[in-house]
Order: sequence, then structure tokens, then C-alpha cells
Amino acid sequence: MPPAARVEPGKALLQTGAPTRFVTREQAFHAGGEGSAIDRRIPGYYIWRQSEMSWRPGVVFLDRDGTIARDVHYCRRVEDFEILPTVPEAIRLLNDHGFRVVVITNQSGVARGYFTEDTLSLIHQKMRDDLAAYGARIDAVYYCPHHPDENCKCRKPEPALLFRAATEMGIELGLSYMVGDDRRDVEAGKAAGCRTVLVTTGPNAANLDARSVNADYVASSLYQAAEWIVPDVGSREAEALRTGNR
Ligand SMILES: [Mg+2]
Ligand SMILES: [Zn+2]
Repeated sequence: MPPAARVEPGKALLQTGAPTRFVTREQAFHAGGEGSAIDRRIPGYYIWRQSEMSWRPGVVFLDRDGTIARDVHYCRRVEDFEILPTVPEAIRLLNDHGFRVVVITNQSGVARGYFTEDTLSLIHQKMRDDLAAYGARIDAVYYCPHHPDENCKCRKPEPALLFRAATEMGIELGLSYMVGDDRRDVEAGKAAGCRTVLVTTGPNAANLDARSVNADYVASSLYQAAEWIVPDVGSREAEALRTGNR
């Protein structure tokens, strides 16, 4: 990729507001160009499609059980699905800062015969609806339905679902985050090149040695995780813009 160091309009973008917001559509407009101008001004850096103009290149991947929702040990019924405190506010904060939010979840209960994929999609619809009531949006849900013994490539800690999402949604993994309550979430995120956050909202929080999990940040709630991610990504994007590294 060509270096972006000599691209003056990139500077102009940075100067129009807080660095954390410089990739939004609004700022591109304030900088005097239309959305697609970013492609021309910063060669090789942003490859936006027009419809994605208002979103950051990176996303926040979220684990489901123990991170978004109470971990009820194989949630089999829609009525057992319960969003954890601060989660709607956290996802809305991320959305407001231009992040798409993508759920990555192991659901071996399908392979175990505890629930069907139809039930799973009803549960995920409830998740989206409950969050939408607070103005929070989930952009996509990717799940692994397999049994651990199947040794598939999509069950976390394997990173295949993150890679698949990246391909299908045009995600810059190097500017993305994986948040979860389990070591496997952190490992999958690292394997995909994301920064990682361990949240201590899951059932095993007391037994987790956060230090050995080695996440980039440990948060006591998803909201606290979001409050760390927002300024962190701003500095990473600014750095990527300066150096031309993607
Ligand atoms: Mg979990
Ligand atoms: Zn799988």
C-alpha cells in the first residue's frame, strides 16, 4: 500500500473535529469532499462502499452468553434470554461512534440437540428487538452450531467466523475488537488480529485468571469496555492514517 504520509486531506479530516470521529461520513463532508472522496485522497487506506460510508472500517465483535446476555447454560427458550445490565447503553455508545457490532457465538446446543437453529434464530431476533428498544443495533450474528468433538474451524477459539465476517462485511480486522467473558473469545480475537477485551460478567469470572488470559483490557461491564474502545480506536486510526499502515 502506498504511504499516506503526504496526503494533506487526511490532515484536514483530523482537524475538523475530535480524532476519534475522523472517519465518519459527516467529517468527510466537513472536510469538503463527498464520501467517496476518501478513496482518492488517501490511496489504499479506506476502501469504502458508498453504503458503508458512515461506519468505521473496524467493528466490535461481541460474544453472546456472559457478555451480552446472562449465561443460563444452553439457553433453549426465547423467554430465558435476558440482556445484561449496561449492554444496551454500551452497544448504543459503540453505534454512536460509528462501530458496527457483530455477535460471534458458540452454540453447540444445536449439535447436542438441546435446541434447533429455528429456536436459535428466534432467540437472536429477541436479542435484536430488546436492544433496538434502547436504540442499540446488532449488525450481524455469526454462530457455530457444532459439537466441540467435530473439530470444526468456526468454534471459538478458532477465528474462522471473524474472518468470514470480515470478508462478507468488509471489515478491517486490524482496527477491530473482540469482547468476551471467556479465554476462547480473547484467543479467537487475537488470532484474527483484533484487540481484545475480557469482561468479567460471565459465570466463570471468579475463576478466571485475567492476567493469564492476556487481553488488552479487562472490564467489569460491557459499558466499561465500550468506554475504553472508543478512544483507543481513535488513536489507532490516526496512527494508521499517519503511517499508511492498514
Ligand atoms: Mg461467553
Ligand atoms: Zn463450528
